Order: sequence, then structure tokens, then C-alpha cells
Amino acid sequence: MSHKHIETEAIRTQLERSQYLEHTSPLYLTSSFVFEDAEDMRASFTEEKERNIYSRFTNPNTSEFVAKMCKMEGAEDGYAFATGMAAVFSTLAALLNSGDHIVSAQSVFGSTHTLFTKFLPKWNITTSYFKVDEVDKIESLITPNTKILYAESPTNPAVDILDLELLGNIAKKHNLILVIDNCFATPYLQQPIKFGADLVIHSATKLIDGQGRVLGGVTVGRADLVREIYLFSRNTGPALSPFNAWTLSKSLETLTVRVDRHCENALKVAEFLEGHGKVNWVKYPFLKSHPQYKVAIKQMSQGGSIVAFEVKGGVEAGRKFLDAIKMCSLSANLGDTRSIVTHPASTTHSKLSEADRLEVSITDGLVRVSVGLENVHDIINDLNQALEA
Ligand SMILES: *Cc1c(COP(=O)(O)O)cnc(C)c1O
Repeated sequence: MSHKHIETEAIRTQLERSQYLEHTSPLYLTSSFVFEDAEDMRASFTEEKERNIYSRFTNPNTSEFVAKMCKMEGAEDGYAFATGMAAVFSTLAALLNSGDHIVSAQSVFGSTHTLFTKFLPKWNITTSYFKVDEVDKIESLITPNTKILYAESPTNPAVDILDLELLGNIAKKHNLILVIDNCFATPYLQQPIKFGADLVIHSATKLIDGQGRVLGGVTVGRADLVREIYLFSRNTGPALSPFNAWTLSKSLETLTVRVDRHCENALKVAEFLEGHGKVNWVKYPFLKSHPQYKVAIKQMSQGGSIVAFEVKGGVEAGRKFLDAIKMCSLSANLGDTRSIVTHPASTTHSKLSEADRLEVSITDGLVRVSVGLENVHDIINDLNQALEA
């Protein structure tokens, strides 16, 4: 059968159907699976047979979720995790040895940054960073021990864009494994494997669930690398639960329509903010004023759900703005149906010095809006009254 479109794959990929011929996939809430006899059990454990043994290894619900993600990302294989961070950690832990080195973009998700700086060094794995506007320096950071090139695009929280094709070429030239956290874009807007990524990671907690209900993560990509990640994970236990996998597989069925509306609303919010007198600047990948606009339109089909902007007046103005918000939520999640507003300088990044914050493009007045699916006029009205307050 010919390759179907991403919307269809997300809906029509169904691996299992029980004797009841249910229309949507059933939930397989079982920790283990039974064997026919001693020979079946022997063959299953030696992997001569591909079948479910124990839900820490595989489960029909997690397999269906992974199969959908692979089709949508154009990947050979994958493994699903309990959270996005379990996916990031297990992927790196499975592939790296003591003495190995990572070259990473400086602007990465907070916990990923903490993993690189605080925990991986315990196993003698070190990381060097490049700034998003200094990609010409990447090659000078590569050493004989460098094994992984790591980045997110768009970045959190400043929505900077990294050129995936450029990263793909560097990784190929230096024989590095290119790992891209594609959480902000989703496979609907951007497929990093097309640009040379070897592995793509998602926090499924964000737009993939998209309704603020469950945590989840997934890594998809080259089959030989996924095999290593699978063997590590089946023995260390970060697996996604069947219930969350079932939820996330259902969520994928509506991903494209949800993300279309997220992007439509976010672009309108960005345009509104750009014209507002109390705002210094706005960053949204599909605004012409975005510093990497040309790269964004090359590799993404729409701009995503996150808008970053700076309120005039620094930290105090940022805090005041947050206090004046009436409808949007003050919450740590993103990619939800509900619009969410955060002020990184006084919350998630408050422990960093102002200089360190600037290193990752977080100015004191920076506000991040995860634009939701409410009527866009209501979102804009809320932001507007908070700016005027
Ligand atoms: C949220 C997030 C993660 C971590 O995912 P969890 O599901 O919260 O563990 C990783 N990367 C990015 C870009 C994220 O936004």
C-alpha cells in the first residue's frame, strides 16, 4: 500500500483488534502476557518470536502509539517512555559511554540542561554548548570523543530556530548522532529525520496529548540506535504505561486539527502583540521579524503554538503582567487546549543570574505564551487588559 498522509496514519494505524472487533483500539491493562507452552516461552525470551512478554518491555497500546509516531516522523523504529525526560535520559544513557562528549545548543529544556550539567558528568560524560546565533562555532567544539549533537527547534522558552539541515550536514561530516527534541513543532509541522536527524525525541505531555491530561515521551529514529535504547530501557524500567499510551494514541488522531488551530491563534496573538505599545519585541517563528524567519519557513509548515515577547519594564513589569491575567492559566505546562502564560525570569529560571539567563535568551521582561484553543479574541482581550493594567 502506498504511504498515506500523516493525518490518516495518525487515525488508521491500528495494530490490534480483539475477538469483539471493537472500532477503536482496546486498552490492554495487563502487566504480563501468557505463553502457550514451554517452547513458546523459550522462543519468546530468546527473541526468535516477536511478541509481548511483559509491559515493561512492550505492550499493544505502547506499540500502537510508537507505530503511529514512527509513521508520522518517517522513522524506522521507536520506544515510548513515561515522560519526555525519561526519553531524553534513557536515549543518552543507552548510547553514551564514560568519556563521551555531547555538543548541544545552549537553549534546551531546563531539565535537559540540568541533566547535561549536573548528572551526566557523574558518569564522565561532558557537554559543550553553542549559542543559537553562533552555529558557525559548532565544528570548533567537536572533539574525537564527541558522539552526539543535540538540539531543540523551536527552543524553549525563547522560540529561537536552529537550522536542522545545517546540523544534519555537520553531524554527517563528523559521524555524530544527531538528536532533535521536536516537542515544540510536532511531526505535523516539522520532520527532523528529513534533514538528517538520527533520533527524534518528544515530550508527549505537550502538544501530542494536547489536553493537559497525561505525561509521556517517545524516541524514534534509526533502528540500530533504537535497538540499543530498547535494550537499556527494558532492563531499567522507564516504560510508558498502557493507559497513557492508549490516551496518547487517541490524542494523535486529533493532533493535526488541534495544531492547525494552535498555529492560527498563535500567529494572530503574535501579530497583535507586535503592534502593542507596552511590548518591546515579539518572537514567533512565522513573523517576518523573527531573526531566523527564513530558516523557520524552510523547515516548518506553520509557526507552532508558542509566542515569546518582552513586556516593557523588566522583571517587575513581567510579574505585574502575570498578576493582571484573568483567563489564561499561570502553569508550567504548554501545548494545552488552555492558553498558558509564564514569566521565566521570576519562575523557572529565577535561580540563574541575569547574565546566565541572557546566555539562553531569557531577558527579565520575557513572557512565554502557549496559545491554546479558546476563541482567539478572548485570548487577545485577556493579554491586552493585562498589558494595559
Ligand atoms: C516538557 C519538555 C520536556 C520534558 O518532558 P516531560 O514530559 O515534562 O518530562 C523535554 N523537552 C521539551 C522541549 C519540553 O518542552
